[in-house]
Amino acid sequence: MDVVVTVEKALEIVLAHTPTLPAELALIDGALGRVLAEDVTADHDLPPFDRSAMDGYAVRAADATSAPTVLDVVAQVRAGQSFDGRLAAGQAVQVMTGAPVPTGATAVIPVEKTRALDGGRRVELQAIAEPGAHIARQGCEVRTGDTVLQAGATIDPASVAVLAAVGRGRVAVGRRPTVAVLSTGDELVDVWDTPGRARIRNSNGYAVAAQARWAGADVRSLGVVPDDAERIAAAIREGFRSDVLVISGGVSAGAFDLVEDVLARFDTGLLFTRVAVKPGAPLVFGRRGDHLVFGLPGNPVSAQVTFELFVRPALLRMQRARVVTRPPVRAALAEALTNRSGRQAYSPARLRWDEGQLRAWPILSQGSADLVAHAQANAMVILDAEKTRAEAGETVDALLLGNFLERDGA
Ligand code: AMP
Ligand code: MG
Repeated sequence: MDVVVTVEKALEIVLAHTPTLPAELALIDGALGRVLAEDVTADHDLPPFDRSAMDGYAVRAADATSAPTVLDVVAQVRAGQSFDGRLAAGQAVQVMTGAPVPTGATAVIPVEKTRALDGGRRVELQAIAEPGAHIARQGCEVRTGDTVLQAGATIDPASVAVLAAVGRGRVAVGRRPTVAVLSTGDELVDVWDTPGRARIRNSNGYAVAAQARWAGADVRSLGVVPDDAERIAAAIREGFRSDVLVISGGVSAGAFDLVEDVLARFDTGLLFTRVAVKPGAPLVFGRRGDHLVFGLPGNPVSAQVTFELFVRPALLRMQRARVVTRPPVRAALAEALTNRSGRQAYSPARLRWDEGQLRAWPILSQGSADLVAHAQANAMVILDAEKTRAEAGETVDALLLGNFLERDGA
């Protein structure tokens, strides 16, 4: 029986049935791209001491209210050293960037605004000192115990820097989901083979695996099975050993679309079997215990788009990500676009900043099999079911794809 839902409802159902995987420890070197499963706090103040932000001279601002002024240089402090005494009136300490500022000093004069005298025993200041200038006070960035990274955030290179600074060589992250990828279809041959008449290469198996890896999963390929119920059943049994089984093909209305029937044998609760989306209407989602199964349509663009809309958010949620979808952006259409499908439509487009606004150029596509056109897109323009036509210049919603930052502009 068909259970048809909107895109919004389908995502809601998927997320409601997606379990969160347990946390595990990751070493900092392998933490990139993982999702934090704990709030990370600072183990000390940042900066940990009053730090000079420049190479120059630490002075008492009261000694340098006019320029030029000459002060005695009583010490030189490199980064990693410290000056134990207290700066007295008329004194300066030469400091390097990153060195602690001596007690009593209230400003740093950059070296470029000074001139060393007497072989460095005295210094002429050519600028007046503003109190506090070029000194980063202890704790001005972060205080001991402050939260510096939040649970649910994906660890990017800047977060790695924070982990290192607060001494977290090990951090709790959500476990990566294991994903089994199964491609169905009598017509499919592998990438290494030359397809004979009426046959095509299996592209979905590779695309889905790549998308799953991009979403942080550990992927296992189950290869291709023909449209044969027993062969499909055996592969599905194997696939359910992973957290998530993603099947492509065999879910539409053809006489040899057997996936849905075979899944029923496995005591799989099928939560929907069609989504009102173009491309990709036939789309099966089910749950068996803590395991999820997605039956994606075989058409390559449909498979990729439905993965992006429904499978990726599930994989991110399993890893405990707080944000699992990319926010839609608004862009002005460069050319008119139509949607006669009666479903919410996702059309490939190229988005680019143009004279201060984001503009979308629809990509000419032959439809949901046109994987080459899809590979030129950096976004999908979204037109709702009722919206049969959007004019050039009209502002529309667009979903950014994962390659957006690399493909902007070109
Ligand atoms: P299906 O969903 O099985 O009815 O397939 C729909 C269309 O997608 C057909 O033209 C199939 O040949 C094609 N297709 C199915 N599976 C794949 C695959 N793994 N790679 C590329 N194309 C496929
Ligand atoms: Mg098929």
